[in-house]
Amino acid sequence: MDTRLPGGRQSLIWGRACARWSEMDFTAPMRYGYGIDWPIRYNDIAPWYSHVEQFIGVCGIKEHIETMPDGEFLPGYELNCVEQHVKDVLWDKFKRHYVSGRWAHVTEPNEIQKQQGRYCLNRNLCMRGCPFGGYFSSVTSTLPWAKLTGNLTVQPFSVVHSIIYDEPKGKATGVRVIDANTKRLQNILQV
Ligand SMILES: Cc1cc2nc3c(=O)[nH]c(=O)nc-3n(C[C@H](O)[C@H](O)[C@H](O)COP(=O)(O)OP(=O)(O)OC[C@H]3O[C@@H](n4cnc5c(N)ncnc54)[C@H](O)[C@@H]3O)c2cc1C
Ligand code: SF4
Repeated sequence: MDTRLPGGRQSLIWGRACARWSEMDFTAPMRYGYGIDWPIRYNDIAPWYSHVEQFIGVCGIKEHIETMPDGEFLPGYELNCVEQHVKDVLWDKFKRHYVSGRWAHVTEPNEIQKQQGRYCLNRNLCMRGCPFGGYFSSVTSTLPWAKLTGNLTVQPFSVVHSIIYDEPKGKATGVRVIDANTKRLQNILQV
């Protein structure tokens, strides 16, 4: 666990854009002959996208575009009249799509997000951090959810030193951590 930002640095400050990869993305290395072919395809990951979207809350408008798959959206932000005009012109003249972004904002919280106590007031101050849990972060969602199980132990000031590997089992079974204050080395094993 990070000593300064429990819950991970990035989900606290991320932009909240939540686009799904499409079949085109997963097959691109194979089709264009670069890198390594993905061992999975869109259909393998789609149920997991849905699972995460329903938990974190992603708003968006279904557009039925193959290269930008729709998700399990909460109501999305409608385009304003200027944006709508740009969208119409782009399509009429160039057959290009212009879509409202898909964001991890609980525009209309579902049952899970209500239980997490989250709501969004659309006041556009997200960059200062949201006191209402309106956008997804580990602090608003996953950590409180884990705490509800009664099985969460938060151990701050723990710098991971290395992974403990169990040879006979052939898998990782824990981590070695250094206490940032005392410098004491401790093995934390999976229970
Ligand atoms: C400014 C910004 C905007 C972004 N916007 C978007 C976006 O709009 N859409 C999108 O999909 N993605 C976005 N991302 C990326 C996304 O936020 C991250 O990919 C994701 O949150 C990473 O999550 P994580 O849990 O893997 O890592 P992190 O959230 O980084 O968590 C890793 C944690 O491990 C801790 N740690 C590291 N080493 C040790 C150690 N030795 N011992 C103990 N703890 C350690 C770190 O301090 C940290 O707290 C953005 C990222 C940034 C920075
Ligand atoms: S800061 Fe305001 S607009 Fe942003 S997520 Fe929170 S309530 Fe919603």
